[in-house]
Amino acid sequence: MLAALLDGHGDFLLEDVEPVPPQPDEVVVSDPLGFACITDCIQRRDGGGQAAPHVRGHAGTGVVTAVGSAVTRVSVGQRVLAPTRPMCEKCFWCRHGQPEQCATAALPAPVVAIRADGTELRGSARVGSFAEQMKVRETQLVPIDSEISDEELVTLGCGAGGGLGAILNTATVTPGSTVLVVGSGVFGLSAVQGARIAGAARIIAVDPVSERRTLALALGATDVIDPTGTDVGEAVRELTEGRGACVVLEAIGGAEHQRRAFDFARLGGQIVLGGFGKKADEVTFPANDLAMRGKQVLSCQFGSVNILADLPRFAGFIESGDFDAKALVSARYPLESVNAALDAQDSLSILGAVIG
Ligand SMILES: [Zn+2]
Ligand SMILES: [Zn+2]
Repeated sequence: MLAALLDGHGDFLLEDVEPVPPQPDEVVVSDPLGFACITDCIQRRDGGGQAAPHVRGHAGTGVVTAVGSAVTRVSVGQRVLAPTRPMCEKCFWCRHGQPEQCATAALPAPVVAIRADGTELRGSARVGSFAEQMKVRETQLVPIDSEISDEELVTLGCGAGGGLGAILNTATVTPGSTVLVVGSGVFGLSAVQGARIAGAARIIAVDPVSERRTLALALGATDVIDPTGTDVGEAVRELTEGRGACVVLEAIGGAEHQRRAFDFARLGGQIVLGGFGKKADEVTFPANDLAMRGKQVLSCQFGSVNILADLPRFAGFIESGDFDAKALVSARYPLESVNAALDAQDSLSILGAVIG
């Protein structure tokens, strides 16, 4: 089968590889549709993810074509979404309301294919959707019974699911509150829509790209800020009677942006760290402010999403028209053109892209 591999860093390699049959707990989806994420761009440029050569694509959707002997969650013919996080329903975290930290995420990903030189290939984030066949553990899958398109559904497997979850799960957004979203990519624009769904009265989106600010307004933002040459903190205080935002979603990543986000929140507000930076990054917050100003800094692994409960619910938002996923997908590229998709994303000329 054809698969897009990353070996260290650099352009994804389109290679013909030998697929491996499913283990008892594994499921095969032929011709999946994958979601190209900003992480794909970053790791193509800088490496920094899985060191060994692997099949890219950490979210995918399609119809089950084969199952291992022990699989119970899905059967052949079932439409499924493979998001970027697993949920085993059995580990400590799955049983204690934090399935986004599922212990099975630390297991080695399944071997999905063998390279011509004999190298074993695993899937990116245990998924590997940039290939003619995706093979995952059943714990990575969510059965989906919905009429929405594959292009819409697959967004929920990464950026859109994470952005909605960041607002609806991780943060506490009460009706009438003010939400600031710093960074208006797929994740941030999904959070903007989540804030609208949650009934936020004021939704402020920050992005240097004017098309993204325009889109943010169309999707529910009440105000936008161009950070180029503008003091974002001052602009936010002007919009909030000097207080700052009730909830700040940091949707860029890196210590510098995290530190700034802390100052954009009002006393007693929440700072949700939705972006991520380099592994060695360390961030410092003012100790007394952190201890006494009521500001809560919240970790945000995939929007604290319970994949089995939340992703079908989020698909319902698309069905009802409350969430516009089409606006987040600029283009569909065939697998052979995956690098062109990432070039376009990297240059900010498109927003989200789907592959397959
Ligand atoms: Zn992603
Ligand atoms: Zn688990």
